[in-house]
Amino acid sequence: MDDLNYDIAVIGGGIVGTTAAYFLAREGMKVALVERGRLAGGTSSKSFAWINGTSKTADENYHRLNARGLAAYCELAVEFGEDALGLNPAGSLNVVRRSDAAGYAAAKERARVLAEFSYPATWVDRKVLGAMEPHVNFPDDAEALYAMADPCLNAPHFVRFMADQVRARGGTVYEDCAAQTLEVRDDGQVTGLVTEKATLHTERVLLAAGPGTPEVLSELTGYDAYAARFPLRKVPGLLLRTPSNSPHRLIRHVLYLSMDAEIHMLPDFNGGLKIGADDTDGMVEADSALEHLHNVAAILLDRAKDYLPGFAGRDCLDKCELTVGVRPFPEDGHSLAGALPGAKGLYLIATHSGITLAPAIGGLMAELITTGATPEMLKPFTLERIKGF
Ligand SMILES: Cc1cc2nc3c(=O)[nH]c(=O)nc-3n(C[C@H](O)[C@H](O)[C@H](O)COP(=O)(O)OP(=O)(O)OC[C@H]3O[C@@H](n4cnc5c(N)ncnc54)[C@H](O)[C@@H]3O)c2cc1C
Repeated sequence: MDDLNYDIAVIGGGIVGTTAAYFLAREGMKVALVERGRLAGGTSSKSFAWINGTSKTADENYHRLNARGLAAYCELAVEFGEDALGLNPAGSLNVVRRSDAAGYAAAKERARVLAEFSYPATWVDRKVLGAMEPHVNFPDDAEALYAMADPCLNAPHFVRFMADQVRARGGTVYEDCAAQTLEVRDDGQVTGLVTEKATLHTERVLLAAGPGTPEVLSELTGYDAYAARFPLRKVPGLLLRTPSNSPHRLIRHVLYLSMDAEIHMLPDFNGGLKIGADDTDGMVEADSALEHLHNVAAILLDRAKDYLPGFAGRDCLDKCELTVGVRPFPEDGHSLAGALPGAKGLYLIATHSGITLAPAIGGLMAELITTGATPEMLKPFTLERIKGF
């Protein structure tokens, strides 16, 4: 650590902080990326990692921010190539049954809204569905919303790749180096960041600590109330990764099967499946005992086997990797991104759907920080909307 002067220090080596660091470095800033553990050691490595605007149709601004994320990955893929990024352009299928009147109507309505938003998606019937996923045992009345541009991501790989790009643009990545406190002048201007290893001299700090954001904000500023009042919920979710199914890939798309029992699966980068479900997420905590996780995972494997006759199901439980990730979930469900009101030089990003949103918000935050003007697309998501800030 010789030259400790930086244009900006970014706290958090998950997908959100690392991608923002990349866009800042691309703008010509000298960036320090500070991670208390290893890169991608937090939620970003325990994510389903489906990149999409498909599931976000309730609010147009939020949909467009997610669609911008998808577009930003396409731009990065043109620059670096999909393999370098760890991007699989799989497309997604949200499968419903005609006999489930409410579920079917909701999916049709989503298709209508996506068409209105010019999002790349179409409706497919049972015959086409069967041809698209030949190993899956769909009911006779199944149909699907097909979002052909939705990819999935090897998120830890992507984070490490983005960190390499930060280094290539003259930035420094500090791992095993927790950020501790801010140095601040009497007029409120940030002047430095004290870390476990050294004090970095910088007038700008961007906090992207995922689910730890409220606590880290309190530590940095010495203002305890942030930890209690910051509007972020921590929502755990269980995923399991099966061993490779070689020689069969079993599925080709990101599948959301909203039928008798919900399950979502995608073709994992190891040749196996990554599997989760919304209801089983509600059965786990961040500190659930392994035995309990195994019981919940067995439910997921049974459901997967119902759809995939060629799959080992719970017979492969011992060889599966189980993870419980903690979602940083803003209370109103939408991203928090912008300058911290009242602080000079302190910025923050905290968001769910961070895999999808990282390159959208990272690019927009780099624009905000380098120009001082908030981009239109970011305006609905700044921190001013939080009462009491
Ligand atoms: C089960 C599950 C499924 C999901 N599925 C999807 C999906 O399909 N699509 C999607 O878009 N999103 C999905 N998400 C959400 C997405 O994974 C998260 O929004 C995203 O990973 C958050 O990234 P992050 O960088 O903010 O947080 P993290 O990855 O947690 O990174 C924050 C980093 O900050 C570091 N840190 C904390 N404190 C300090 C400190 N004091 N000093 C230095 N470093 C510090 C941590 O060590 C950590 O590495 C899912 C999440 C879960 C749990």
